[in-house]
Amino acid sequence: MSDINLSDNPTSPILWRLISKAAPIIAGRDCIVKRRDPTAGGNGETSVNLEGVPVVAIAEDLQGDQLTATLLHELAHVKLHAAKMQRSSTELEPPGSDTKHKNRPEWELEADNQALEWVRYGMTNRDLNLPKDAGVLLALVGLYLEGANQ
Ligand SMILES: [Zn+2]
Repeated sequence: MSDINLSDNPTSPILWRLISKAAPIIAGRDCIVKRRDPTAGGNGETSVNLEGVPVVAIAEDLQGDQLTATLLHELAHVKLHAAKMQRSSTELEPPGSDTKHKNRPEWELEADNQALEWVRYGMTNRDLNLPKDAGVLLALVGLYLEGANQ
């Protein structure tokens, strides 16, 4: 059983290729994930860019389980909330530049709940021969691709 994560090396090119392919399938809509410190601080941030595409920023100091948890929380925002977000230039603004950002508590709760559901499904159904985060993401990809074929 693999307890290592691809994201133990957070600059792993394989990790980010996997994330960029898996994220839109898991979130259920087109999106971009970047390893970039959020404009509002914290571990992650989801915004909708000027072209209308959701953009997830994952803080550069994250790795391992914390990176996976943050990614899934932000992808939950993409799935549940991106359609309600205004387009903005957030993805182009410097990290830490948004000092007035306020989270919506109800959105955070919904994202936490969805992320927890995904983590549970992924941990239960992952391929134990793969790095943990890769196994979790691929289990979720499998879940939604199977769903699409029914
Ligand atoms: Zn959040």
